[in-house]
Amino acid sequence: MTALRVAADRDRCIAAGMCALLAGSVFDQDDNDGRVLLLDSTPATNHAAVREAVETCPSGALTLDES
Ligand code: SF4
Repeated sequence: MTALRVAADRDRCIAAGMCALLAGSVFDQDDNDGRVLLLDSTPATNHAAVREAVETCPSGALTLDES
């Protein structure tokens, strides 16, 4: 199975919230500033939603490493 590793750069995040909407088991938003919180950097499931979240993020704050 392909391993998937996600990273989130909170300095780039503009708190748009798309990631948390698309993959809520992996991404959340900080209650204070709305920026991304990474809940799971190596999700075992939900890979399609995680990929979509990374591609949809408007600020390029999310990156994906698949190997
Ligand atoms: S989609 Fe991108 S910009 Fe929006 S909250 Fe998530 S990481 Fe931040």
